[in-house]
Amino acid sequence: MNRRNFLRTTAIGAAMAVTPLSFSALGQATRNTVKSGRMRLTFEPYELKLKHAFNLARNQRTSTPGVQVRIDLDGITGYGEASMPPYLGENVESVTGFLSQVDLTQFADPFRVKDIHEYLESIAPNNRAAKASVDIALHDLLGKIMNQPWYKIWGLNPDKAPDTSYTISYNADPDEMNAEIEETAPFKIVKVKMGVGHDKELVRALRAVSAVPICVDANQGWTSKEHALEMCNWLAEQNCRFVEQPMPKEMIDETAWLRERSPLPIIADEFLQRLPDVRKAAGAYDGINIKLMKSTGLHEAHQMAELARALGMKVMLGCMTETSCAVTAAAQLSPMVDWADLDGNLLIANDIFDGTKIVDGKVTIPSDRPGIGVIPLKA
Ligand code: MG
Repeated sequence: MNRRNFLRTTAIGAAMAVTPLSFSALGQATRNTVKSGRMRLTFEPYELKLKHAFNLARNQRTSTPGVQVRIDLDGITGYGEASMPPYLGENVESVTGFLSQVDLTQFADPFRVKDIHEYLESIAPNNRAAKASVDIALHDLLGKIMNQPWYKIWGLNPDKAPDTSYTISYNADPDEMNAEIEETAPFKIVKVKMGVGHDKELVRALRAVSAVPICVDANQGWTSKEHALEMCNWLAEQNCRFVEQPMPKEMIDETAWLRERSPLPIIADEFLQRLPDVRKAAGAYDGINIKLMKSTGLHEAHQMAELARALGMKVMLGCMTETSCAVTAAAQLSPMVDWADLDGNLLIANDIFDGTKIVDGKVTIPSDRPGIGVIPLKA
């Protein structure tokens, strides 16, 4: 499905609650100022093509399934999306199946965000990416109604947004790996995927051309605490800032052991998903990695960042491979966090939104745009 088709076609869902509305129809609605007074949800699958294959600890992949979502109300459109990397346990069928059950027309007031989230929870307990897609589109809609970007609504200072990292992973083809390393040039911190073997080779290849600070994501790939500690000690000498999910999420006691000895902060990613998990992570990790596709969107992500701060934890903001839609939504939260890893839109070859940009190594929030700050790209 190309972007043009997404713009043209109506939602695939045929359920009563899912009312198709094309962009051309939206233009007409805007001109005529139709006051339907009820939110309409539409959605469309959209596969994200990766620029480089991801070599992760447990698999390799070249694309990520996604679903694009929009909520229309009185001529205003909110955009959202779900991205479903396989390890999250969601796919196009589960997301569209969930969204087909969502009936937002029952909410006369779109600002009842908590009620809407309670309603989404009542449909099914999981489906976090599907819920995130609704949440992001809802926030975009509400920000546009208020005519303000979300960082302002939350009272955040965009100058406090941290540098963002760009992700590289080991590649058996040296030319391809060097091409990835070259792409890190505009960034002031590089995220190195580890846990697949060749961990030190990758860092040495980077260090041959750059002294840039790194952070490491082992993606649960180190299965002994002694090896994890040895890697943390070695990485501390390689200008590394922190290590994300060094060991499998089930190895909580071993992670707590590592944390007591590691010279680098240990950050939870796969270990945690949502708000109640933050407190569980506090015993074994120094910080958490918040992602909208795990947290069910911006509403809970904001709460997670506040709770982690209250617990004295570090906060990292990450993403999946996503279009600029979800990445720009996450960027609205970036002034709250210590580290940002918002490169998901840069890792795909078929973005369909204009949004956040990397300027001088930082994620910028489009300050002049309300809502989440994105504009769909024209054909
Ligand atoms: Mg991670």
